[in-house]
Amino acid sequence: MKTVLEDLHSQINKLNPNVQLMCVSKTHPFEAIKEAYSLNERLFGENRVQEVESKFPKKEDRENDLNLHLIGHLQSNKVKKAVELFDSIDSVDSVKLLNKINTYAAKINKKIDVMLEYNSSKDENKTGFETYEEIREAAILSKQLEYVNLTGVMTIGPLNASENEIRSAFKLVHDVKNKLEKDLEIKIKHLSMGMSGDYKIAIEEGSTIIRVGTKIFGNRDYSK
Ligand SMILES: *Cc1c(COP(=O)(O)O)cnc(C)c1O
Repeated sequence: MKTVLEDLHSQINKLNPNVQLMCVSKTHPFEAIKEAYSLNERLFGENRVQEVESKFPKKEDRENDLNLHLIGHLQSNKVKKAVELFDSIDSVDSVKLLNKINTYAAKINKKIDVMLEYNSSKDENKTGFETYEEIREAAILSKQLEYVNLTGVMTIGPLNASENEIRSAFKLVHDVKNKLEKDLEIKIKHLSMGMSGDYKIAIEEGSTIIRVGTKIFGNRDYSK
């Protein structure tokens, strides 16, 4: 893991040293996370609430600076748990979900970071806002809600696509972020895009956070 991480960081540094690496640890045991943490990684992504609940120590028993983001689709019956367990929910894909997150966050008096997910490849994955109007409505709402803090726009690039298709999808989402900033007169810090197979293209297209799993932790075994 050490050499893979060193290699990744040197590639990131060459392309854009401001880009952050999120280690996507889903399906891998907590030991793997501890190993990455011991190698100075602090930003982690998981896609299931239940898995985090059973895998990680309680929030108060975790390292303070371990920053944990939810990057998978959030069902409304798990919002309460998600608000408690994560530092940020990066996969917000509806206004309804945003309202619900705000409601629970208010109850425990925790201001939580959120990102809005945009669907940049409509046919292949069905998560995320599908039109600019929809994501704009959510961004406007996030400004009004007291307990959510909009920090970014996230997307999953098209899978099994050509480099050109991937690049256009990332460009599109970068444009969406720029347009939101302009229309709403706000600054949106992050553009979370790029995974093991396409992070270089993502960085070239303006990503500020790449989410890398397989390349760091190896293949995932979903049978367990
Ligand atoms: C699993 C996952 C990743 C990491 O994908 P790899 O191809 O293993 O790097 C990134 N983002 C999301 C939303 C994921 O679910």
